[in-house]
Amino acid sequence: MASKAIFWFRRDLRLSDNPALLAALDSADEVVPVFIWDEEVARRAGANRNANLVASLNSLNKSLNGALHIITGDPLSAIQKVMKLYQTDLLHASAAHAPYGLAAEKSIGDAAIELNLLGSNYAIAPGRVRKDDGTPYKVYTPFYKMWLAHGWRPPVAAPKNPNWVSPGSEAKKLLTNPQAKSEILLGETGEEIALEKFKTFLKNAAKDYSENRNTPSIPGTSKLSSHLRWGEIHPRTILAKLGSSNGHEVFRKEIAWREFYADALFHNPHTAKEYYAPIFKIMRYDQPGKKFDAWCRGETGFPLVDAAMRELLSEGWMHNRTRMVVASFLVKDLHLEWQHGERFFAQHLIDFDVASNAHGWQWTAGCGTDASPYYRVFNPIEQGKKFDPAGDYIRKYVPELAHLDSDSIHEPWNSPDGYLHGYPERIVDHAAERLESLARLEELKASKSIPSQSNKKVKK
Ligand SMILES: Cc1cc2nc3c(=O)[nH]c(=O)nc-3n(C[C@H](O)[C@H](O)[C@H](O)COP(=O)(O)OP(=O)(O)OC[C@H]3O[C@@H](n4cnc5c(N)ncnc54)[C@H](O)[C@@H]3O)c2cc1C
Repeated sequence: MASKAIFWFRRDLRLSDNPALLAALDSADEVVPVFIWDEEVARRAGANRNANLVASLNSLNKSLNGALHIITGDPLSAIQKVMKLYQTDLLHASAAHAPYGLAAEKSIGDAAIELNLLGSNYAIAPGRVRKDDGTPYKVYTPFYKMWLAHGWRPPVAAPKNPNWVSPGSEAKKLLTNPQAKSEILLGETGEEIALEKFKTFLKNAAKDYSENRNTPSIPGTSKLSSHLRWGEIHPRTILAKLGSSNGHEVFRKEIAWREFYADALFHNPHTAKEYYAPIFKIMRYDQPGKKFDAWCRGETGFPLVDAAMRELLSEGWMHNRTRMVVASFLVKDLHLEWQHGERFFAQHLIDFDVASNAHGWQWTAGCGTDASPYYRVFNPIEQGKKFDPAGDYIRKYVPELAHLDSDSIHEPWNSPDGYLHGYPERIVDHAAERLESLARLEELKASKSIPSQSNKKVKK
């Protein structure tokens, strides 16, 4: 009888550059490809993320010639069902490094099941890049230098002539066909699309990435985030194609931010929900109410903030520059704790990643790793003038302002016809809220000694 191994697809929904998958195929005559659909996670995920995942699974299933076994349940019980059905205890997967995946591995280990783990969703697995004294990095730039010096393996090829086990009648009783519908139109996804997108980015945008990545109105970035999140493409595959030009160098640094945040979360799992710099927990914050609702709807009366929030609502994605602007607005203008915004992003982003989201929020809020100092408050109007000078991004997402020219679109309150088409008035006075925010910081400093945040220049 042919020997069988189970391959548990996790955040590696691809066939190429997948060492753990090759190891599974090497270990047996046939491989049962499995994905576990955990209802608990799906409930928290939001419609966009679930719909994007279903599309990715459909694409993976196609490349597996219809052999993907999607099993509903928690990881342990799903794995036990498949092992029993196929009478095998050979189990392979890529390693996880975030809290949910680590807990799943522990539950499997606790049940005395051997899980063969190889590789991760990162060029260098979180936890590996350390200072000379063995402690983790807290600051990005030295992490980046050590990360580069550590290096990574070259990509591996896709399996040749793999033998997949297609679900038979018994397996079909276990299978689930997850249906998830998003109210918005999501782009296609899957390994092929991810590789194609990266190729297009290399050809058209990588050269000018360092200048164009900050302009939200143009396709200056790769839009690979959701593909990286589900491992439809591995960062190694990306890094192997990058050279030494300025654009490539800056792009490599962004890939490294993702790895830095994964490393930070790995060492500090509580920071998925809690403050990296705990002192900020006792700061004076407001409770979410009508202003938070206006932020969520993209109706704050600040054109760049509203354009960005409506980009999120209509596309399930938001440009990095404007993620920082809306995050700063929530924390410093509305005086809300970053977790409110983090949760809203988690509900809507198709690229939601627990490490990048929690730490992206905390960086902007001034309480995270390598954080932008708390007293740095983004000015939503000046950010608009600087990064969307012609107003094209605002015009695209905020139709009530589309009639305004580039001189008036950033400050419709100064224009006689600024509110002609029902654009909402500002919910706060930015200058006053900036001062309020700084006053709360002073209050915190007076109540406790907080580590001084140097007046360093933060490049973001
Ligand atoms: C408040 C806030 C929340 C965020 N939430 C997420 C999230 O949930 N998921 C997520 O993938 N990214 C998140 N980011 C980081 C960043 O905004 C997105 O990765 C980026 O906008 C994705 O677009 P792209 O693929 O075109 O990026 P590109 O500019 O093409 O960058 C290439 C890749 O590098 C990585 N990257 C780029 N910038 C960052 C960054 N600042 N931090 C970490 N990784 C980065 C991403 O994987 C990205 O796909 C967040 C940033 C902020 C400020």
